[in-house]
Amino acid sequence: VFTALLGAAAVSGLTALLLVLVGTMNVLLPPDTKFGIVFDAGSSHTSLFVYQWPANKENDTGIVSQALACQAEGPGISSYASDPARVGESLQGCLEEALALIPKAKHHETPMFLGATAGMRLLSRKNRSQAEDVFAAVSRALGQSPVDFRGAELLTGQDEGAFGWITINYILGLLVKYSFSGEWIRPLEETLVGALDMGGASTQITFVPGGPILDKTAQATFRLYGADHTVYTHSYLCFGRDQALSRVLAELVQASTGLLIRHPCYHSGYRGTLALASLYESPCAPAAPPDLSQNLTVEGTGNPGACVEALRKLFNFSSCDGREDCAFAGVYQPPVQGQFYAFSNFYYTFNFLNLTSKPSLSGANATIWEFCLRPWKLVEASAPPGQDRWLRDYCASGLYILTLLVEGYGFSEETWGGIEFRQQAGGADIGWTLGYMLNLTNLIPAEAPAQGWAQSF
Ligand code: AMP
Repeated sequence: VFTALLGAAAVSGLTALLLVLVGTMNVLLPPDTKFGIVFDAGSSHTSLFVYQWPANKENDTGIVSQALACQAEGPGISSYASDPARVGESLQGCLEEALALIPKAKHHETPMFLGATAGMRLLSRKNRSQAEDVFAAVSRALGQSPVDFRGAELLTGQDEGAFGWITINYILGLLVKYSFSGEWIRPLEETLVGALDMGGASTQITFVPGGPILDKTAQATFRLYGADHTVYTHSYLCFGRDQALSRVLAELVQASTGLLIRHPCYHSGYRGTLALASLYESPCAPAAPPDLSQNLTVEGTGNPGACVEALRKLFNFSSCDGREDCAFAGVYQPPVQGQFYAFSNFYYTFNFLNLTSKPSLSGANATIWEFCLRPWKLVEASAPPGQDRWLRDYCASGLYILTLLVEGYGFSEETWGGIEFRQQAGGADIGWTLGYMLNLTNLIPAEAPAQGWAQSF
């Protein structure tokens, strides 16, 4: 092993020397780098990620890095249901950025994937043939690119949760360790971190529980670097931020007699209008009233207590009937255990509210309530630039996140400190895409590399 290490050092030394020489000649020698592209077709928008890794180290750990993150123009692909011909266009800008970054000679060998999540899950429930048309249009457009397009598919909620878990544990280098003495060390299960993901349409929780997983449908097992991992994972469709907040509004409409809605989760002084029909487009919505042609006027009352009450109704807590191992909506969940990384909407909301640097649960609660009580004029006046689109909803999503994490998943003041609200780790965005690509390109071998495991514990 030592000789091999010395050999590797010599080779990398030589490479460095070559690069220096080449650098002085002002010629770019392409390093032997491989690339992969993944589109994350979310409910509200599509992102593209380019990953890269050294070709000769395919079986090693922690070598894949993120080379590009690009936000596609326009809404998520499910919004093109009635005009699928235009979905390809929306992905072109990011695709071109990716192609410009990857050397031309490597285009044909670069795998490219598109994975769609809860927005498309909802569309395929509502209208399967429209969903198929969107996938066909996406595949046609991406199939014309010079890279090796491997297809567009709908991820299950379980996939989304499990790949998010693999991503964060891979980025943090927790799946496998190469010890100083040159042996592979199997990680301790307790050091692996859980994943909390919240998109616009669904939310996922994935972690290694302290005890057995009694409901086998909530279990995902995979073999990575020679170690078997069994995680608890559940994806709650309709519990993503946008769907949840839209459902609250629909419930308030149902409880009111007219078209003026007084909304406790919007700041006092806020006033806006929206088409009533927009609340009932999704399969998550309650039954629609007969006349959908009207507009609603919504006025904020800035009342966090009443907002929490309205949010609680979404969860159907009573269906757990006091069962300890039940989260909400009758869903089985063992007690939360260990450290968690909370990303996507968890991060966006907590970052806006300055809550990412670990205040206590009661501190986070106080900050969110205080924010909700602020008049709309003040909220608008003190908002950083670029927040217009999201500003109205941070109070609601802050309280929604608290309700979900505490009353839903069962985090407490003691376990709250174990949650890291983060968008990135190790220079890569945290989400399902990296884990998905590692899986599809076999970049994580099932068995331990080289000589096997050391009995280090
Ligand atoms: P998805 O499109 O399903 O991946 O979900 C992304 C979610 O994040 C949606 O609920 C968006 O509304 C929300 N979102 C995206 N970017 C931001 C941002 N910068 N600030 C607040 N929320 C965001």
